[in-house]
Amino acid sequence: MSEEKNTFMLDGVAVEFNEGDTIMDAALRAGAYIPHLCHNPEFTPHGSCRVCVVGVNGRQVSACTQPAATGLDVDNGSGDITDERRRLLQMLFVEGNHVCPGCEKSGACQLQAVAYYTGMLSPHFTHFFPKRAVDASHPDTAIDYNRCILCELCVRASRDVDHKSVFSISGRGIGTHLTINAPGGKLGDSTFAATDKAAQVCPVGAILPKHRGYDQPIGERLYDKQPISIVGDVATRKPGNGGDSHGG
Ligand code: SF4
Repeated sequence: MSEEKNTFMLDGVAVEFNEGDTIMDAALRAGAYIPHLCHNPEFTPHGSCRVCVVGVNGRQVSACTQPAATGLDVDNGSGDITDERRRLLQMLFVEGNHVCPGCEKSGACQLQAVAYYTGMLSPHFTHFFPKRAVDASHPDTAIDYNRCILCELCVRASRDVDHKSVFSISGRGIGTHLTINAPGGKLGDSTFAATDKAAQVCPVGAILPKHRGYDQPIGERLYDKQPISIVGDVATRKPGNGGDSHGG
């Protein structure tokens, strides 16, 4: 007698899940792409970017934190869900200074790739043009705060894997920002090393390695070759500016 599997419906297709899975866990394992930015399967789900919003039985939830359950009817592809994701992405674009044509991460940036995936053609909202500094104090790594989307992946990686807690988030509302836990607040004064896990996880061009800018030409980068919706080839992806490390 065959064992009955736990399943839920994702855009009309049955997806198997294991006990403890979130909708995102099960979808990624099944090869179904749910757009995301702050999610990385290597870390505890955070649910902050909300780009993985899905409709579940008529209500909107974050797929990375919503437990999978039998009988769920998950909407990952309707026009309403795509519109909501596009709005969230547009807000991320105007809150920072994301100048894709001049960004070293272009072609390997998840924010850019997800924006393409959702068909975002313009920022729609008025740009904030915040004044943010670049921290080039570290010998091997630069931080461009203009591109930080506050996903907290570097915070989680530095705390949970590197056991250094170099990064944290400070402030509130529009004043929320990434900070470096060092006396002068500079990366070069911290215990950060380019070999840290935290150096590998930034989904955008905010944490960038020095000394190898544009070593992979634009046009030949990960998302220049394949859309971000193609999943299941995580092992072949390289971290850093030429690849990505979001694991999904
Ligand atoms: S620097 Fe990168 S990894 Fe860290 S919070 Fe900002 S966007 Fe996320």
